[in-house]
Amino acid sequence: MAFSFSIIPKDNPNQAVLLRRFFIGAAFYTLAFFFFCGAYLANIVTMQALCCYGIIIITINIVLYVVFRAGLNLRMSDPSLTSIQMCIASFAVMYGLYYLNQARGIFFALYVIILLFGIFRLKTRQFLFISAFMTLTYGVDILLLNTFRPQGIVLKIECVQLLGLAVILVGVSFLGGHLSSLRQSLTIAQRELRASLNAIGEMGIRDDLTGLYNRRHLTKMIELEKERSARSGAVFSLAMIDIDDFKKINDTYGHLAGDQALKTFAAALKSILRKTDFCGRFGGEEFCVVLTQTDILRAKIFAERIRSCIEDISFPTLDPNFKVTVSIGLTECKMQESFDEMLSRADNAMYKAKHEGRNRVECYD
Ligand code: GH3
Ligand code: MG
Ligand code: MG
Repeated sequence: MAFSFSIIPKDNPNQAVLLRRFFIGAAFYTLAFFFFCGAYLANIVTMQALCCYGIIIITINIVLYVVFRAGLNLRMSDPSLTSIQMCIASFAVMYGLYYLNQARGIFFALYVIILLFGIFRLKTRQFLFISAFMTLTYGVDILLLNTFRPQGIVLKIECVQLLGLAVILVGVSFLGGHLSSLRQSLTIAQRELRASLNAIGEMGIRDDLTGLYNRRHLTKMIELEKERSARSGAVFSLAMIDIDDFKKINDTYGHLAGDQALKTFAAALKSILRKTDFCGRFGGEEFCVVLTQTDILRAKIFAERIRSCIEDISFPTLDPNFKVTVSIGLTECKMQESFDEMLSRADNAMYKAKHEGRNRVECYD
């Protein structure tokens, strides 16, 4: 078996999205490193600090990549690892700020960029938590600088900057939280819209009472079956099924019981059919079944089975001894004829079954 490895997995779209996001983060680490190189060339940071910074960010990115690529992130409550990645990045910024001396100011902006990483994902509370963490790391930086390199800083100015950072991060946190909630509302609205469109689509093709295909959709499907049959040469048959003396059911048990009987009948009819066949309600108590890849001889055997199965169905809203029967008109599709011609032959066969005494199958060749 050939070994194939892709940097971003092709078989898992969710992981692919997370890895693409990881690479955006990695690009920012690289840019920060270039900035550090510039600071080295300007004699602001030492070679040792530059090398350590390079090693830190390479290690962070390799570890994160392995975690994502091996799917270890999926074991976490938030597989995107957004908060964790933001905290790690804050540590990298903390290291940079410690060594950047006079060039610290511009590196500050990275905190805001890191917060932007959480937009659309984190809630305001989580943003505030990470902002507090970032402010803390910067505060620790000032403490360390004040302890080990006090000549490089003016404590008062650093404290004002720390306050300024806290204010900016709180502002960005509220803005980020607001955008995340807007996105969430949009996602919910989009999901509801999709569900409504699906429901409307279903309503357009299904009969309200029985849930079977309605006449319009069934007609479309039969036209398609005709085209398929013309291409493949396979014949198919059409069965028109009309419930016998249905008016009597309504008259005896009432219209609501009649409705229930139609539902029971439709469910039973669907369960009798093979997976490749399909059926619909053509109107009133008339149903149409399409028997795919079935010639008239085999269709007759199948229609007989439908007829005798219907006889055995018990209808909860009718008397247990009440037998519902059907008359079935069968015809086989002919290549050159129109849909209406085929339908009228099936109808004629069905009326013949009625005239011959009902509860029977008649064919029209
Ligand atoms: P036949 O054996 O000749 O088919 O007799 P029939 O009584 O079944 O036929 P007819 O066409 O005279 O009557 C069909 C009845 O079906 C009349 C109509 O009220 C009833 N019907 C049609 N649609 C519905 C429906 O959605 N619900 C109910 N409860 N009855 C319906
Ligand atoms: Mg009838
Ligand atoms: Mg009828």
